[in-house]
Amino acid sequence: MIPYGRQNIDEEDIQAVVKVLKSDFITTGPLVEAFEKAVCNYTHVKYGVAVSSGTAALHAAMFAVGIQPGDEVIVPAITFAATANCVLYQGGTPVFCDVDPDTLLIDVNKMERLITRRTRAVIVVDYAGLPCDYTAIQKITQKHGAFLVSDACHSLGAMKPIADIACYSFHPVKHITTGEGGMAVTDNIVLADRMRRFRNHGMENGRMISLGYNYRITDFQCALGISQLKNLGDWIRERRRIAGRYDEALTVRRLRGGKDHVYHLYVVKVRERDRFMEQLLEKGIRTQIHYRPVYYHPYYPQYGEGYCPEAEKAYREILSLPIYPGLKEEEQDHVIKSLEELAWQG
Ligand SMILES: *Cc1c(COP(=O)(O)O)cnc(C)c1O
Repeated sequence: MIPYGRQNIDEEDIQAVVKVLKSDFITTGPLVEAFEKAVCNYTHVKYGVAVSSGTAALHAAMFAVGIQPGDEVIVPAITFAATANCVLYQGGTPVFCDVDPDTLLIDVNKMERLITRRTRAVIVVDYAGLPCDYTAIQKITQKHGAFLVSDACHSLGAMKPIADIACYSFHPVKHITTGEGGMAVTDNIVLADRMRRFRNHGMENGRMISLGYNYRITDFQCALGISQLKNLGDWIRERRRIAGRYDEALTVRRLRGGKDHVYHLYVVKVRERDRFMEQLLEKGIRTQIHYRPVYYHPYYPQYGEGYCPEAEKAYREILSLPIYPGLKEEEQDHVIKSLEELAWQG
């Protein structure tokens, strides 16, 4: 079976973790800060707060910007549910915005039209690894006094995040992994301090001054993260190379690329997507759908057809192909050949 994404763990990674397991620190130790510094250096940001998942990073961001009941937070309709769930955790209301059909990034014009007096923040997603147009987006959020949070779980290493807070995930399918893990990064020390407190029960100097959680990450996970980060440059080059081969070989429609794209995902659009998925699986190729519109999940209010028409239309056609460092050339050729055969039959 060829998966759509998977981790890369080498002997050096294993040794780094084993070393920590034999040390005094199993949970918070010196490597948490070392990992935060390493990610900050890589992304040219001042402060990093390492936490137990990308979802925890998003939750900490919502806490730090002060989301509370009555506040609206604009999020793209096509994203992982966690992007919207983090708003609900704080009692806020996610407001779903349609996406640009060529990239599945938030539609910036539609976003501005959704801003109301209650809009406290906007979360944008660098879908598939393509950074949003932050210059345009920031101009709008600043004009309306809203915070800008970047869900950068797909785009570690793409560029310096231009947002009040950017959130990364280190889940095994992402660019680097710590098993589970995440980090919120910011240039704002006030926001950073709030998130530090939030990850540790709201405690400051032994006194609980706000409500927090246990969102700590462990030292041995951070050892893995530091070791993984050394490969990030090579892995991004490898992902771009694989994407380039798909670009050249495939005749089916695909999302727009770009020079800063770091290709967490490679997404094509096909009619009869479900048939493609099933028949590729029969050939040993596991594809995925990223994502159904969040409000299609039964938990969310059902807004009905036409609420975000581009997101809904894209959802019926999108398919994520295998892409990860370590995907062999003959495996990719098998994906290309199988997909093209299906397209010609269709
Ligand atoms: C992976 C991901 C998350 C959540 O990260 P976890 O580490 O799995 O909690 C959030 N948003 C997006 C867009 C993601 O891809």
